Amino acid sequence: MDPNQLKQTWDAETIELWKSGAYLKFPYLEPYQALVAYLQSQRAKGYFILNEDGERYVWCKELDYYKDKNERGPGYFPETGQDNRRFYLRKGKVPMRYIDRPKERSLSAMIAHPSERQWNLPKYHKRHFMKLPLGDCPLSSAAIQPFTVTSNWKTEWRTQRHRIREGNDMSDHHPSFTTHLCSFLIFTKCHDEDGEYTEYQKLNRAAIDATCLRTCKNFHDIGTQKLYSNNTFYFLMCDGTIHRSPPTLLLNGTTVRPNPAKPRPASDSQILQTIQTGISEIQNQIDYTSLSGWVYYDPFLQFLHSIRPKKSSLIKSLKFSGIVKLHICGGDRCRSKCADDLIASLEVYIPIINSLLPNLTKVTLYAARDQLTGPGSHITGETPPISEDRLLHLLEKEIRTTCSLNVLEVLDAEGVKLAFAEPTVMWFKERAAKRAQERFLANLAEQKAATSAIAFATFAEALVTSERLARQFFHKHNLNEVIG
Ligand SMILES: [Zn+2]
Repeated sequence: MDPNQLKQTWDAETIELWKSGAYLKFPYLEPYQALVAYLQSQRAKGYFILNEDGERYVWCKELDYYKDKNERGPGYFPETGQDNRRFYLRKGKVPMRYIDRPKERSLSAMIAHPSERQWNLPKYHKRHFMKLPLGDCPLSSAAIQPFTVTSNWKTEWRTQRHRIREGNDMSDHHPSFTTHLCSFLIFTKCHDEDGEYTEYQKLNRAAIDATCLRTCKNFHDIGTQKLYSNNTFYFLMCDGTIHRSPPTLLLNGTTVRPNPAKPRPASDSQILQTIQTGISEIQNQIDYTSLSGWVYYDPFLQFLHSIRPKKSSLIKSLKFSGIVKLHICGGDRCRSKCADDLIASLEVYIPIINSLLPNLTKVTLYAARDQLTGPGSHITGETPPISEDRLLHLLEKEIRTTCSLNVLEVLDAEGVKLAFAEPTVMWFKERAAKRAQERFLANLAEQKAATSAIAFATFAEALVTSERLARQFFHKHNLNEVIG
């Protein structure tokens, strides 16, 4: 079939416009090949194309198989709070019947796997009911970035959610980005007057669908273990500005907006006491409205408070990304709109990790250079204002006190390894190897002790048996006086 003769739904003028667009984009291709390449690159909908086997196909509109988590839901009413800000309040919780809304039946039918007709697959099949995909989540190189700081301020409305990130991207960290999605292709066979054709559709759905955790207790227990232990969690540093750390109005009319500034320096004994208070607040699960500001607004610490200590103890891998700050905030240089310094934040995190994340084995640090340095801008009274020196100070001291850590990666903002961090990276490797060897030797000693105990018990039993036989023999032959 001549592809140029295919019946199209587009009018001639639109087709000509696309053809000229294709020529500009792919001038080195034949006109039809250029058009196909251009249509495919743009996923243009409604234009019939022939595939390599000469079969007709057409792109159709994308399907969204998820619900926007930032949707307010029913029952909210506007209210004016502190500084004339507008907030949305709601009496009571959003009802489960709103949260558990099933998708439209036609949409569910379109994406349903054939096995979903009563789940009649044999147990050994990879899509059997008991082999749900939570553990096979395609996140091996990606990380989950949770957003647990919420706000009911109209301008910065946000609910708890997450996004999936590949590598490091310190820009656009506003939580409204819906990159928690995965895309799949759906192929549907259709017919028209010219015969059979295939509709291609891109389907967007949540990369992690944790709703299956609500199925039953077993699913919840197994799924929770996989969710927290098999994934890496990624955090940017806290940005204490009003829009990044927004206020929330409570029903009683008070506005929650505690001071997001972190206690520092963490080496000070009084500050250590403040950090201990923060740990207790997370451990004792105090109401979030009573949290210290530096716990409330810090993405990592607020996350630990939200998931509770039992789940924190499952976490094995973390990534932190931030600027190794060299300038003093304020004035025209940054107008104090910078996020927290990576080093100062890690100094606060380390005692918290030691208390709440006993199974954390891997940490990746993305240490970005400070772009706002210049004459008269440097932090004074600290180690020399060079990123390497500030980072080295942390690497050679504080970070080595992280008890459970086996693997450390130190990269720049682009994900390139920082060579000067290698001695510490090696130090963790060697400590891990030493610990593994000690565990091996301890297990061996335990096994040996168990084997000797068994051997001794067998020997003692044999002794008792032989003594009993000897007694029987002597008794039989009236020789009792011999054995006394
Ligand atoms: Zn600054």
